[in-house]
Amino acid sequence: MAEPYERIALIGLGLIAGSMSLALRRAGYEGEITGHARSAETREIAREIGLVDRVCDSAAEAARDADLVVLCVPVGAMGSVAREIAPVLKPGATVSDVGSVKAAVFEAVAPHLPENVHFVPAHPMAGTEHSGPRSGFAELFDNRWCLIVPTEGTEAQAVERVAAFWRMLGANTEVMEVEHHDLLCAIVSHIPHLIAYTMVGVADDFRRVSEQEVIKFSAAGFRDFTRIAASDPTMWRDVFLNNKEATLEILGRFTEELFALQRAIRTGDGEQLFDYFSHTRSIRRGIIEAGQDTDAPDFGRAKPK
Ligand code: NAP
Repeated sequence: MAEPYERIALIGLGLIAGSMSLALRRAGYEGEITGHARSAETREIAREIGLVDRVCDSAAEAARDADLVVLCVPVGAMGSVAREIAPVLKPGATVSDVGSVKAAVFEAVAPHLPENVHFVPAHPMAGTEHSGPRSGFAELFDNRWCLIVPTEGTEAQAVERVAAFWRMLGANTEVMEVEHHDLLCAIVSHIPHLIAYTMVGVADDFRRVSEQEVIKFSAAGFRDFTRIAASDPTMWRDVFLNNKEATLEILGRFTEELFALQRAIRTGDGEQLFDYFSHTRSIRRGIIEAGQDTDAPDFGRAKPK
């Protein structure tokens, strides 16, 4: 089988990189996968479980001779990693990333890269609330979208090669423009996380009054929030610091809607509430029809196999 890239380096060895490596192997990838993580502890675990073929003690060592280097670190660390690997990049190599924000990553990474490499940012729209080298699994990207976000001047062939790589991992791909990406992700991912963090914070505050009741009697709605709010604090801090404009824009609109619903509750406008909830229910049906979730009831219990 012709490999899309003979050597692949994954910088950062957490949920996303781990899942990429496992998905590559599942697809029968026969090239070499190198990897690096910041801490000796993570590198040791990665070696122990054989997460990649070769765990390196520096990002530069992992990236040397690679045909594709994927930055899988938190958004705030992308620039310093790019600076470190830039001197060893092979001419003609492709650098990509998996960051949840794209404009800020482009600004942080692009200035460090030599002209003779391709830079093709990407964002797999798949994740869980778990992190670290043991959290990855080969199916993470199956039937999920990976957004490829090239910038002006990126060679079309390099873009298509990165897209083919993601399809090999099980994802569907779509090319998207950078500002559009950041606004879309603020709506479908970043603000929902912020709301979950806030709701769990509010409930925790209430718990101080009602002792353990919030946890003991937690209903499905709240439990879903707690799952999302268990996501990695470093990753999410970096997302909000680096997608400021789009998240503030969507947060403003969210607040307006919330005030409208608050008013409907206060004035007893049941019709408005019913219409609003009927509309949102139809959006859920659309997501299920698009194959992005199942309609199996989820009561927080183990799902039947
Ligand atoms: P993760 O499980 O926390 O893994 C992050 C990895 O990056 C760890 O191996 C960490 O090493 C390493 N790292 C952190 N700073 C570093 C540095 N300066 N140099 C080298 N390695 C460094 O995170 P993840 O969920 O895989 O997320 C990685 C990226 O994917 C983020 O940019 C995130 O925005 C994006 N993303 C995440 C999701 C999601 O749902 N999780 C979805 C799509 C995209 P140590 O363990 O040694 O600290």
